[in-house]
Amino acid sequence: MTTTHAEERRLLDLVPTGLLIGGQWRESHSGARFSVTDPATGSALTTVADAGAADAADALDAAVTAQRDWAATAPRTRGEILRRAFDAVHSRADDFALLMTLEMGKSLSESAGEVRYGAEFLRWFSEEATRIDGRYATAPDGDSRLLITKRPVGPCLLITPWNFPLAMVTRKVAPAIAAGCTMIVKPADLTPLTALLLAQVLTDAGLPPGVLNVVTTSAAAATTAPLLSDPRLRKLSFTGSTEVGRTLLKQASDTVLRTSMELGGNAPFLVFDDADLDAAVDGALAAKLRNAGEACTAANRFIVHESVADAFAAALAERFAAKTVGRGTTDGVEIGPLINERSREKVQSLVDDAVQRGASVLTGGAPVAGDGYFYQPTVLTGIPASARLLTEEIFGPVAPITVFRTEDEAIEAANATPFGLAAYAYTRDLGRTIRLTERLETGMLGINTGIVSNPAAPFGGVKQSGLGREGGVEGIEEYLETTYVGIASPTD
Ligand code: NAP
Repeated sequence: MTTTHAEERRLLDLVPTGLLIGGQWRESHSGARFSVTDPATGSALTTVADAGAADAADALDAAVTAQRDWAATAPRTRGEILRRAFDAVHSRADDFALLMTLEMGKSLSESAGEVRYGAEFLRWFSEEATRIDGRYATAPDGDSRLLITKRPVGPCLLITPWNFPLAMVTRKVAPAIAAGCTMIVKPADLTPLTALLLAQVLTDAGLPPGVLNVVTTSAAAATTAPLLSDPRLRKLSFTGSTEVGRTLLKQASDTVLRTSMELGGNAPFLVFDDADLDAAVDGALAAKLRNAGEACTAANRFIVHESVADAFAAALAERFAAKTVGRGTTDGVEIGPLINERSREKVQSLVDDAVQRGASVLTGGAPVAGDGYFYQPTVLTGIPASARLLTEEIFGPVAPITVFRTEDEAIEAANATPFGLAAYAYTRDLGRTIRLTERLETGMLGINTGIVSNPAAPFGGVKQSGLGREGGVEGIEEYLETTYVGIASPTD
């Protein structure tokens, strides 16, 4: 149901808007605040505290102070805090969904989906907290025993993007809590409110002061750079663009900081001639229009067998054209606005470039007139190899379709990118599925599905899409150190 202004105001008034440092909500040292904007209207929703380097230093002090006791806290206790937070997020699902829609723009039903997905990391890692274990072995020469143990890596800096304001935070915070790490979260300045409400929920669930600190800022680099050079910080987990990831990796090298990097993608979506075409169109909608295309896993290039390309393109264009675009809080809206004008201009410039080089627009191809940063769901065909949108992350509801003849040609096209986060393929051939699994250069592959994200699976990329994995049994390893103890063999 369409929300009212009064409901939106009530929710915004409930969200803490200060910095969370050492268990206290407070203003920044400078007293400065910055605005958070609704991308559907372009108007300000509220303001939040604007931290600087001195506030970040306080947050690190608090995290360092809390680290020892937190590491010694029983895994069951850590798990139960996460489990209570999971329940609390679910009981406040409507608040979280509306808040995300307000600050990020996605439709309320998509936000509700993100609440379920994002909360699941809290539950998954509440269970993983009690499964941290090591090994015991006899050395091959029999002279010693090998004891391998795990311990928390230590205070972490967690930097998150705006496109999934809840899930990108829980995907880092939950394994860090489960592992016994303390942390500083730096959410995107465009969408800090969801992270702040989550911090309140985790605090209410019993997280001790200093374990989770949240620093909102309009000056990301100036605020986080001093932390990265402080040897007390032991881990950086970053989700965002490859460009910023590279900068942070360089900074992290000074202190040889442990890093996890979830970076950009350029996902290929392959449709073979044996595919169930209706299923492929459904999958394409999910892989392209989820989050208005503003997802690192979004299908960026549709690579379709020549015998089915026209039928696929026509069906996709029909479904795209039928989508309802509008403010995400409005009943029936399926696709919200892009995050800001800069983002919309980038999408338009990629479409213009493709069209100037000879591409045809089957549907869409232009911004939606009026307030907010809306863009029409767009399908393009006849894309020349030189078009920029084949090599750049589109991050918008634009589907470029190219054609292939042989399986080798399709795989070669799919791999022709420095990125390797997600890939999708529609085929009913088992042998081909295995060949794709072995030859596609990707961290994640969806076979006959347009969605690969799953809290129980390791999420992450190869090549320039990143380092490390989040979620699954692998996710907690990013927050654990391995210690090996050699023990001389007992003698009588
Ligand atoms: P971004 O510009 O790289 O920003 C990501 C985060 O880094 C934000 O919190 C940002 O703060 C902060 N940041 C920017 N410059 C920084 C610096 N010099 N030092 C420290 N922090 C800095 O990315 P975005 O536009 O928010 O997100 C979109 C990108 O994220 C896309 O490329 C997408 O593919 C990628 N992404 C990847 C995954 C994945 O799991 N692989 C998931 C989601 C998104 P401010 O916002 O305050 O500037």
